[in-house]
Amino acid sequence: MDHVVVRNHHGQSTRIRAGRFVLAAGGLETARILLTSNDVARSGVGNHSDCLGRYYQTHLFGCLTTVELEPGVTAHVAFDRDHDHDHDGVSCRRRIWFTPAQQEAARLLNTVFFLVRPPLGATGHRSALFSGVYLAKTLVAALRRPRQALRYLRTEQTSIAAHSAVLIRQFPSAIPEIYRAVVGRYIGSRRLPAVLPPDGLSVYHLQFQAEQVPNPHARVTLGEDVDEFGMRRLVVHPRTTAHDIESVIRCHGLLDERLRSAGLGRLRYDGGDLRDAVVRSTEHVNSGAHHLGTTRMPDDPAFGVVDRDCRVHGVANLYVVGGSVMPTSGHANPTLTIVALALRLGEHLASTSAAR
Ligand SMILES: Cc1cc2nc3c(=O)[nH]c(=O)nc-3n(C[C@H](O)[C@H](O)[C@H](O)COP(=O)(O)OP(=O)(O)OC[C@H]3O[C@@H](n4cnc5c(N)ncnc54)[C@H](O)[C@@H]3O)c2cc1C
Repeated sequence: MDHVVVRNHHGQSTRIRAGRFVLAAGGLETARILLTSNDVARSGVGNHSDCLGRYYQTHLFGCLTTVELEPGVTAHVAFDRDHDHDHDGVSCRRRIWFTPAQQEAARLLNTVFFLVRPPLGATGHRSALFSGVYLAKTLVAALRRPRQALRYLRTEQTSIAAHSAVLIRQFPSAIPEIYRAVVGRYIGSRRLPAVLPPDGLSVYHLQFQAEQVPNPHARVTLGEDVDEFGMRRLVVHPRTTAHDIESVIRCHGLLDERLRSAGLGRLRYDGGDLRDAVVRSTEHVNSGAHHLGTTRMPDDPAFGVVDRDCRVHGVANLYVVGGSVMPTSGHANPTLTIVALALRLGEHLASTSAAR
C-alpha cells in the first residue's frame, strides 16, 4: 500500500503517500473504510478470511432488579468515601464481580453489577440534600415553562409534598452532607460526578453490564445507501445469543444466592419471569457506544483481520487500532484498553521504524 485518498466536506480531495498507515476510525467506521476499499481488494482490504465486519460485540446492560438489604447492612456505593478513591484520589465506583474460577465453573460471561441509588424522584433515600436538589430542579423546570407552571406543579404535587417533608424532617442531619457536597464539588481539586445521597439505604437498584459471546453472525455490512462522499453506509446486524441471555440470568441467580447465604439481603424482581425481562432488554441493543470486534486480532490469519502487532494480515504497512481489534469484549468500558493498545502500537512503530 503506498497512498490513501482523503476527501473533505468542501469536495476537495488529496492523495497522501506514506511508508506506513494506521487506521483508527472506531469500531464501525474502521470496518466500513476497509470494506469500501473494494477497488483494491474485491471484498475489502483485510477481508481474506471473510471476518472483516464480523464478531461485532457491544456490552449488554440494564437494570432489572432491586437489591433489598437486611436491616443493619450498609452498602458502600458512594463516590464520596475514602475507600472509593484510587491512588491518585480519583473517585471510583464499586462493582460486584465473579472470580475467574466462578466464571469458569458456571460458564458465565464476564459480568459486573453496580448498586445504583433510586432515581431522584424517589423519597426512600430520606436525604434532605437529595430532596432539596429534587425540589430545586422541579422549581427550575416550572420556571422554564411559565405558562404551564401551575399545571406542571400540580402534576408533581404528591412528590413535592413528600420531598418537602423529608427536607424539613432531615434538615439538621443534612448539614454535614451539604458541606461534603459543596467541598467535593466546588472546592476540592477533583470534582465529584454529581450530588449524591449518602450510603445507608435499604433498597438499591441493580445495574448489570455483561460481555457478549463473539459471534460471526453479529456483523456490519455495506448497505445500499451512500453518504455525501458517495461511500456506502453501514448496516449493523447486532445479535444476542442464547449463551448471552443465559449468562445474565445465571449471574443474577448466583448473586441472589450469595446475598441470601451471607445474610446480607436478596434480589427482588416484581415483573414476572426474569428471563422474559432479559430477552426484552436485549431486543433493542443499546450498544453503550462500545463498538467492538469488527477487525478482530488472531495470530492465525484464517480467523481474523489483524495480527498481534495490529498489522492487517497480508498488508505489510497497514495497521488498525481501536475497539475493533478486540477479539472478546470483557465486561469493562473499553477506553483504557484502547489507549493501552494505541500506546503499544506507537512503541511498535517507533521501534521498527528505527530498524527500517
Ligand atoms: C457518550 C459516551 C460515553 C462513553 N463513556 C465511556 C466511558 O465512560 N468509559 C469508556 O471506556 N468508554 C466510554 N465510551 C466509549 C468510548 O468512547 C469508545 O469505546 C472509544 O472512544 C472507542 O475508541 P476508538 O479509538 O475505537 O474509536 P473513537 O474514539 O470513536 O475514534 C475514532 C475517530 O475516528 C474519527 N473518524 C471516524 N470515521 C472517520 C472518517 N471516515 N474519516 C476521518 N476520521 C474518522 C472519529 O471522528 C474519531 O475521532 C463512551 C462513548 C460515548 C459516545
